[in-house]
Amino acid sequence: MIQGKKLITVLGATGSIGVSTLDVVGRHPDRYGVFALTAHRQVDKLLAQCLVHRPAYAVVASADDAALLQVMLEREGCCTEVLSGSKALVEVASAPEVDMVMAAIVGAAGLPPTLAAARSGKRILLANKEALVMSGALFMQEVAAGGATLLPIDSEHNAIFQGLPVGFERGLDGSGVTRILLTASGGPFLNKPIDELPAVTPDMACAHPNWVMGRKISVDSATMMNKGLEVIEAHWLFGASADRIEVVIHPQSVIHSLVAYADGSVLAQLGNPDMRTPIAHAMAYPERIDAGVKPLDLFEIGRLDFQRPDFQRFPCLGHAYRVLREGGVAPAVLNAANEVAVASFLDGKLGFERIAGVIAATLDAIEPRDADSLDGVLEADRQAREYAARFVGRASC
Ligand code: NAD
Ligand code: MG
Repeated sequence: MIQGKKLITVLGATGSIGVSTLDVVGRHPDRYGVFALTAHRQVDKLLAQCLVHRPAYAVVASADDAALLQVMLEREGCCTEVLSGSKALVEVASAPEVDMVMAAIVGAAGLPPTLAAARSGKRILLANKEALVMSGALFMQEVAAGGATLLPIDSEHNAIFQGLPVGFERGLDGSGVTRILLTASGGPFLNKPIDELPAVTPDMACAHPNWVMGRKISVDSATMMNKGLEVIEAHWLFGASADRIEVVIHPQSVIHSLVAYADGSVLAQLGNPDMRTPIAHAMAYPERIDAGVKPLDLFEIGRLDFQRPDFQRFPCLGHAYRVLREGGVAPAVLNAANEVAVASFLDGKLGFERIAGVIAATLDAIEPRDADSLDGVLEADRQAREYAARFVGRASC
């Protein structure tokens, strides 16, 4: 079908990261072709994307939506074959034709196809941080065993990756790295009086000052759970212990993160807040390609500010450090409870200020144990979801 091009499967193509990925793909038709696009339920958006990018396969969750999309594509003369269900996600992430997989499904649902991409040795462009948080050790083992290449899309981790020396396999100590400084904007409620937090609405929480993102990660940014998940993500990607990962509030989101070295050097990566930068970086690595991003104008920015995070205002950040130190299934429990709490908040069933409490209660309720098998992790995820949902139900009575 497409000769000499790198073929990509975009998991979560209709989301914020998926759309940015296809924008970069579309700028380089000589370099990239699309093997498969997937979406949960957004059939119309996926149809439009298929008509532009002409993938071999499209995947949606339900068989009914798949049949509908297939008819619409045929009517437009497009040969894309439509599949459905979670098995199809695994198939399009691991098919032999595929060179790289953009893992941009939100939440735990992204874990099975991302693991499949790891096992089949793909270049994985990892946006779906929840997959790594849930099963970090197992995930990294699969990446190594499958000979996959894991490149971070999260802007902070992509920045850290860019600040590390080539051949970082020697680890932090072998490379002279002393600390990783993970920047955080602080989200929309950085300076809001704490007693006003119970009144915040989903739309207020999703109005991020610097980034346009999906609703779940936007709420995570408002609670700073996003930064907590990113601390855990950094631990697995770079082999850094919790003590070596420091969160720095930097409201302008221009410095995307920093790496501190033993000789006193601190390397930062800067850029406008536009996810097409890390996406293009990871797609073309080690080359550099145009990403359509506005050049950084330091004179326009004028100043860069920094402050320490307030763990009282943002208790979710503390919970994330706690589970990273605890290990085992605790990060999977934290992630599952957070997904339930955020969905409940977005549905109007839970107050914003209660999200952290749901997570703390679930962490206390689920027995700690090792995360030595995927089944064990998925069982902890299931138990945590069940507990958190019951807790939310009681809280909203
Ligand atoms: P989004 O909500 O905009 O898009 C999510 C995508 O996943 C959509 O295509 C949706 O159809 C699909 N999806 C949702 N639930 C699914 C399910 N159960 N099964 C299959 N597909 C499903 O989210 P986003 O903002 O693009 O974020 C995607 C991932 O990237 C998240 O893990 C997020 O944390 C991470 N991320 C996003 C950004 C950003 O700027 N948006 C930055 C860093 C990391
Ligand atoms: Mg990020």
